[in-house]
Amino acid sequence: MLELHWGAATHQGLVRDMNEDAYAAEPGLFVVADGMGGHSAGEVASAIAVDTLRRAVGDGYRRVDDVAVAVRLANASIRAEASARADRAGMGTTITALVVLDPEHHLLGIANVGDSRTYRLRAGKLSRLTIDHSYVEELVRDGQITAEEARLHPRRNIVTRALGIDRTVEIDTWTITAATGDRYVLCSDGLVDEVPDHEIDDLLSGVADPQEAAEQLVATANRHGGRDNVTVVVVDVVQGADPATLADDDPGEPQWAEGQPEPERWADDDTEQFAPAAAPRSPGRTTDDDTVVLPAITDPPSPDAEQVRPVGAPRRTIGIGGFLFWFALGAIATVVVVVALVALRGGDQAPPPTTVPPTTVQRATTTPRPSGTSTTRPPATTAAPRPVPPTSSR
Ligand code: MG
Repeated sequence: MLELHWGAATHQGLVRDMNEDAYAAEPGLFVVADGMGGHSAGEVASAIAVDTLRRAVGDGYRRVDDVAVAVRLANASIRAEASARADRAGMGTTITALVVLDPEHHLLGIANVGDSRTYRLRAGKLSRLTIDHSYVEELVRDGQITAEEARLHPRRNIVTRALGIDRTVEIDTWTITAATGDRYVLCSDGLVDEVPDHEIDDLLSGVADPQEAAEQLVATANRHGGRDNVTVVVVDVVQGADPATLADDDPGEPQWAEGQPEPERWADDDTEQFAPAAAPRSPGRTTDDDTVVLPAITDPPSPDAEQVRPVGAPRRTIGIGGFLFWFALGAIATVVVVVALVALRGGDQAPPPTTVPPTTVQRATTTPRPSGTSTTRPPATTAAPRPVPPTSSR
């Protein structure tokens, strides 16, 4: 039978005004959520995510798909709350969860959305089990930058998936076997952006007590600058499977691709209930929250695109296919209107045009962005958001 010991710590850091991280560390459920939205909205989003999983665990998780359903329910709940209050519009959160599925067979489930992480220390080796849904992670997987460069990259605050942003959300899941001696670590980016993996590894290997390890990791992040909220949950497998039988228990790629069931409350088409909020989706960046949600991208945003997006403009996750569709539709509509106007003018036998004063082309205003924020202007469309397709490498 599976036996776990754990500890947890969180801190707002040395720069932020508040702590928008939330976590749970209790029998059968370990979660870290990193809220975004500013003006306390991020705090609400992360709390909803954690509370939703906490309530769902009462029903018991038997499969990792059950965890995915709970995460989707959290997504819907955050969106509903954001729609109900203008000051919470656009709030969102990451989530990384480690859940006991089958204690008799030592099975754990992992679910992840965003750039919070779950690590495993096994046989002295620290491995990251989750894949960040972030711009810099895509650059790393594309071979453009190294993992260490990603940690210091100026755009490391851009996440490509988060709860609360779109009606649907892709959730990475894994089912793994816990071995005796394993140590699992869940954390927000406030840890990994400040502390290199090798230092996390050293500390985890050198501190036996999970609570003390969690507290020391948080303290280390603050010693390195503490520029973000930081949350760490450490889970030790005191009794699990025989490690010798799990030599090849590499979690590999996530199981998200197919068959994740919808929450029951989505059984009917409830587009009204969870339609995108009428209010702007983002309250804009604030000094205490500079996380930005953008669609998954493989190329750096063009400088022009970055310049013309006003701070505070709605941010959306929409796939490239959706953008091309609406762009083509707009082009066709423009051609039709021009042809119609030409036909009308011809029919009226309009006189030759008089001299027209030169036209001034008004460029979109460039608004200075606050330090640490990186944004891209979203497509001008009201189309229903489209889930971001995973890259083929996931
Ligand atoms: Mg953070």
